[in-house]
Amino acid sequence: MKIISDERLLKVPIKDNGEKLVDIKKYCPKVIVRPGAYIKKEGEKYFFKAAFVREGVAKRILVAQDLLPEGYKIILRCGYRPLSLQKKRYLWMYNKLKKKNSDWSKNKLAEETSKCVAPPDIVPPHSTGGAIDISILGANERQLDMGTRLGEFNEKTYTKSKMISSVATNNRSLLIKAMAKAGFVNYPTEWWHWSYGDRYWAAVKKKRYSIYNGL
Ligand SMILES: [Zn+2]
Repeated sequence: MKIISDERLLKVPIKDNGEKLVDIKKYCPKVIVRPGAYIKKEGEKYFFKAAFVREGVAKRILVAQDLLPEGYKIILRCGYRPLSLQKKRYLWMYNKLKKKNSDWSKNKLAEETSKCVAPPDIVPPHSTGGAIDISILGANERQLDMGTRLGEFNEKTYTKSKMISSVATNNRSLLIKAMAKAGFVNYPTEWWHWSYGDRYWAAVKKKRYSIYNGL
């Protein structure tokens, strides 16, 4: 499994194609934008930006939305995340792990933190506008059971986890099929994290370079 701070990933060259960030609420009105609690806490500036993605990502979200059954909607928790917010999020997780594991070395702490939050110095996927955290709202406007909450970090959040119910497994495969068909790649420890155009996408799709740099 490739992790986000893997050295091979850091070597993927970036040639930004200059695409702009667009507001998904305008681009794809069916999509519901509901930023996570930690973004709300940071205030209006970041709350507003969570609805933005690169235009190529927005186009593909439209495709994925149309692949879902009638009445189902994609719910976006976070798209673009400015580097300043990424830094805060990384430090928050680093300090949380440090408190719990006083015997860990700096390297170990950095390694474990980067499994949950991309380090700010490696062009984090959400800071390129190429990554999205999403789930699906069912016909009754309730979020489908995906086996865990979005943003948890444990064995059950691994996209292919065998520790979740068959209902959750089916719901995840609905998401996986639509997103993969639309051209996104998933980060395998987080069922909700999908990207297009970033380094992770380039590595998985065996592209020569990533098309989105940090913004
Ligand atoms: Zn994410």
